[in-house]
Amino acid sequence: MQLHVRPIDLHLANPWKIASSQGSSTHTVVIFELTDPDGTQGMGEAAPASTYNETARGVMQFCRGLDASRLSFDDVPAAMAWLESLPGIPSAARCGLNIALVDGAAKRAGQPICDLLKLGFRENAHVTSFSIGIDTPEIVRQKVSAAADYPVLKLKVGDSRDQENFAALRSVAPAKPVRVDANEGWRTREEALRALELLARDGHVQFVEQPMPRDTNRKDLLWLKKRSPLPLYADEACHNVGDIPHCAECYHGVNVKLVKTGGISMAYETLQAARQAGLKTMIGCMVETSLLISAAAHLAELADHLDIDGNLLITNDPFVGVTAKRGILSFADAPANTGLRVGPRREEHG
Ligand SMILES: [Mg+2]
Repeated sequence: MQLHVRPIDLHLANPWKIASSQGSSTHTVVIFELTDPDGTQGMGEAAPASTYNETARGVMQFCRGLDASRLSFDDVPAAMAWLESLPGIPSAARCGLNIALVDGAAKRAGQPICDLLKLGFRENAHVTSFSIGIDTPEIVRQKVSAAADYPVLKLKVGDSRDQENFAALRSVAPAKPVRVDANEGWRTREEALRALELLARDGHVQFVEQPMPRDTNRKDLLWLKKRSPLPLYADEACHNVGDIPHCAECYHGVNVKLVKTGGISMAYETLQAARQAGLKTMIGCMVETSLLISAAAHLAELADHLDIDGNLLITNDPFVGVTAKRGILSFADAPANTGLRVGPRREEHG
């Protein structure tokens, strides 16, 4: 098996600012290609996040020292067990490698990944929200207008302009369902509860993600969960299956991302465990190409909510796969029928 990795700079249509990081207009992801001697190729992607202290350079460095001959499409669990035994594997690298392995395995089986996992995928049944980053109220208004086709929005908060920005959103979309993501931005349980009570008065806020810092003590989290008028979802506090017992106690739901869990196999396991623990499930994303977004879409049947719009925020997506017209996920026009169902984007001429 041969491994080829390459970094790509993704350009954002608008600089992306959230409570836990400053605005940036470029995000670097790493594309993985595993090629078997028989010619089967598995593709993967890693979107390293600074909030988890991971970088594209760290992922590239790890992969350069990797003996890819130990990887096989025939036994993904064994390949993953070997990867886990390596010291210092970045979660993003594990994610890229796992997706490439699962893609190759599904192509070998002549199936899309969702069928290989026995989940299937219902067309016209899954809707992704469209995310609005922290900005000035005027820009928020413009972004919400531009997102008129999307039936559900997600607003980033955790900034001094939160109330003005929410009002700006409502001036354009008076009754649209909205999810709110504080990205750990509310520092105390009292501040969080005040903000939650204000948001609940709107009547169309579905839930709130990560109200307080990921390491907030259990006592404060339980205090907030008991009083919150809106469901609370863990994001930064939920990395993988090991975090599910804590999240089941302190939150109502979890936002599972392939980059955090370390790929499709572990996201599948985390979503299943979350449901068994009585949590609501959501699949989220980073700024990513259609490759990683499509990988997440294959797990859609395990999610109550989807927020997989990272590819919609960039201007140079090199891939096509799942589409999200009016927010509705579809593989109907996908360029391939097996594996991730992803292919290269061809430039349109004339
Ligand atoms: Mg979030």
